[in-house]
Amino acid sequence: MYWENELETLKRTDLEKLQVKRLKNTIQAAMNSSYYGNLYKQMGLSADSVKSVSDIRKLPFTTKQNLRDNFPYGFLGLPQKELIRLHSSSGTTGNPTVIFHNRHDIDSWANLMARSLFCAGVRDTDVFQNICGYGLFTGGLGFQYGIERLGCLSIPAGAGNSQRQIKLMQDYGTTVAHAIPSYLNRLFEVFQEEGFDPRKDTKLHTFVIGAEPHTEEQRQRIEEMFGVKAYNSFGLSEMNGPGVAFECTYQNGLHIWEDAFLIEIINPDTLEPVADGEIGELVMTTLDRQAMPLIRYRTRDLTRILPGACACGRTHVRLDRIAGRSDDMFIVKGCNIFPMQIEGVLMKIPEVGADYLITLETINGSDEMIIEVEVKKDWFNGDITRLDKLSRLITGQIRDEVLVKPLVRLVEPGSLPKSEGKAVRVKELRKALNS
Ligand code: ADP
Ligand code: ZN
Repeated sequence: MYWENELETLKRTDLEKLQVKRLKNTIQAAMNSSYYGNLYKQMGLSADSVKSVSDIRKLPFTTKQNLRDNFPYGFLGLPQKELIRLHSSSGTTGNPTVIFHNRHDIDSWANLMARSLFCAGVRDTDVFQNICGYGLFTGGLGFQYGIERLGCLSIPAGAGNSQRQIKLMQDYGTTVAHAIPSYLNRLFEVFQEEGFDPRKDTKLHTFVIGAEPHTEEQRQRIEEMFGVKAYNSFGLSEMNGPGVAFECTYQNGLHIWEDAFLIEIINPDTLEPVADGEIGELVMTTLDRQAMPLIRYRTRDLTRILPGACACGRTHVRLDRIAGRSDDMFIVKGCNIFPMQIEGVLMKIPEVGADYLITLETINGSDEMIIEVEVKKDWFNGDITRLDKLSRLITGQIRDEVLVKPLVRLVEPGSLPKSEGKAVRVKELRKALNS
């Protein structure tokens, strides 16, 4: 069962034909913007430059810096009076970028969202609580339109206020919820503080989690704590927001909707395509957006295309869980480390609580990686030897994974700083010394 039967199961050859047709339209629309218009004319490029999907390589990449340099209207392919909405990124890595939509774009996005939710097993009989900031952030309205298009009863709960979230779940019998994974760990703690067990005291059966990197271990934890299935949702505001790639009920990678997005995976250093199945940077082109088409946008997200077909019958390729952004990686004592490697270790240790924070600091002239880890409250009963043992266990396991010995500090639940939106996993204090 599919939301859009024909599109989701198109034969690959037909899908590629559709992509070429849409790519030509996209180039044409893009050339109405001052940015692409000038650039492509200078380079002698036009819609006619593209005859096959691989011809996209003739076109230059677009970067976040290009978007910032041409802020706000330089990428507009339509007159301003056609626009009905703007959204911006959450600004994790600097100034936010802005994306504009016309009526067609919002409609197309709502369809992609409905398709994504259906693919993860959500149906119009579900009660859907969207635990996500409404406003400029795309997770609020982006999901809202999809939930409504699918026909679920929507609860536009917004972010935060865990007691209220729990009450909404109980009052209206919420069956599906969407939230960022780091928040769900905290929500579970509040359930416990309130004396509720989400497995028994709610009707939840599905979570949709995304918007920030998380590990398979984190997902499994969430599934166990709440007694639900948790599906991975990937998107970025430059490509509308959520509804770009989604797991189906087989939970084996995220189908990326190739009728709406043309994807490439490149080596971020050489900018050449990687070999099939290798990890690289995801590059995306919008194929169904009119107001602000983006061509060969470098997402900085690292992933790979999973080999083989999915048992669900959808023909759109599957992306592997996002390993992180190319700029997430940090180097300590010559070793390259991604925060998700550390999360993977921590989430497998049952004593570890909801949150952790990695701080990079220069101590006595040497780079150190300090990892503060929340552990369950009953560990702070005065038994120092027991805490010490746990700390040594965590230190050893992290060292085995990343080849650098961290300084592990165990802290009480709730004591690490909480951010309003996406979790901040790494605090870099080394640069401050040099600046
Ligand atoms: P910002 O770039 O300011 O965080 P966005 O809100 O547009 O702005 O966030 C998009 C980014 O969030 C993606 O490029 C990716 O790095 C991350 N992201 C989104 N969904 C996921 C996911 N399911 N897994 C890992 N990372 C994700
Ligand atoms: Zn599938």
